[in-house]
Amino acid sequence: MKNKRICLLGSTGSIGTQALDIIPNTDYTVYALAADRNVDLLEQQIRRYRPALAAMADEACAATLRERVADTATRVLAGPEGIEELAAAGCETVLNAIVGVAGLRPTLAAIEAGSDLALANKETLVTAGQLVMARAAAKGVAVLPVDSEHSAVFQCLQNSPRQDMKAVWLTASGGPLRNCTRADLAHVTVERALAHPNWSMGRKISIDSATMMNKGLEVIEAVHLFGLSPDQVQVVVHPESIVHSLVEWQDGALLAQLSVPDMRLPIQYALTWPRRLASPLKPLSLAQVGQLTFCRPDRETFGCLAVAEEAIRKGGLYPAAVNGANEQAVALFLEGRIGFLQIEESVRLALAAPFALSYTTPEQVLAADRTARALVRDHFTIQEN
Ligand code: NDP
Repeated sequence: MKNKRICLLGSTGSIGTQALDIIPNTDYTVYALAADRNVDLLEQQIRRYRPALAAMADEACAATLRERVADTATRVLAGPEGIEELAAAGCETVLNAIVGVAGLRPTLAAIEAGSDLALANKETLVTAGQLVMARAAAKGVAVLPVDSEHSAVFQCLQNSPRQDMKAVWLTASGGPLRNCTRADLAHVTVERALAHPNWSMGRKISIDSATMMNKGLEVIEAVHLFGLSPDQVQVVVHPESIVHSLVEWQDGALLAQLSVPDMRLPIQYALTWPRRLASPLKPLSLAQVGQLTFCRPDRETFGCLAVAEEAIRKGGLYPAAVNGANEQAVALFLEGRIGFLQIEESVRLALAAPFALSYTTPEQVLAADRTARALVRDHFTIQEN
């Protein structure tokens, strides 16, 4: 029976559209949808799913959408405040699939409204994990991972005592540039960096996968989500993307979750947990895969991973600053204004700058984000748009 309401933030993106594919398999009806600027797709989604509410972060796009769907019952809100209002509408679950630190305030709004959170927006936990997990615990809401690695860990933790967990092992495909040298990386084009071998994802996370910043962000996310120390979160490269991550126990056992690489599984598990319902996933044939391989990550060639690990060891506002520098640098790389290796140069700048070693409010986190972005723009003498 469809007796739960879901608010889907980032509905026009890679995770958002895959979530809409699997929502019919769950107990949820679509109550609210939000995006930034993709008016055409959001209009189509409104006509198909008939949500009570919709929002667009871009105010001009929201105005266009409002006119276009005036014949429907959907109320359209505008701007970042509109997105927060949607998140605070009191749905049973908010699935946050916004990209970047823009997801932080909506996450906090959902928690304050007492909604469970299905979290794809890893930047929420990277930048303000301490604050977010403390607020979620105080409000008694669940934070359910959508990221495939964290979902794998979460699945391996079911029915096992957390105090017996020794470490988690996050698997990394190594991305499209896995076999490149530093000299090769200096000449990588946007097209090459976007061409991920195993996953089809949004542009920002695709570049993060190519630099391995994505794995660094995931280390930080895991520290907060599972209450671990940075040393308890390890990374192993696994190019086949079949083992999605592992938990190592005190007795020496390793438990892993395996499946074909398809985000619809972790999205669905976050919405049906603890049930495991039928899904559109292809079955995994281990005989057909034949071989699963693993190796150590190369932190010298892919320095962003090491920078993110250092940021979480330093703590405080460093993860937010390094994340902000990365978001700015990735945007500049995608615009063709800086080279691939300058993304790493940018995150190193943030790591070397002075930031506070503790914080208590989202405003402090967002200020560190802005400072780090400005550092990167100043470094490459780029004017703000
Ligand atoms: P996409 O770029 O494909 O989609 C991003 C979505 O967020 C779009 O709907 C976009 O709207 C919306 N959006 C962008 N900026 C804002 C804003 N300021 N306010 C509101 N909405 C906004 O990203 P992905 O789906 O790939 O990734 C989303 C998140 O999930 C990221 O944090 C990523 O790291 C994480 N993730 C993604 C995975 C994947 O397989 N894609 C795997 C694991 C985690 P519009 O279309 O209008 O621009």
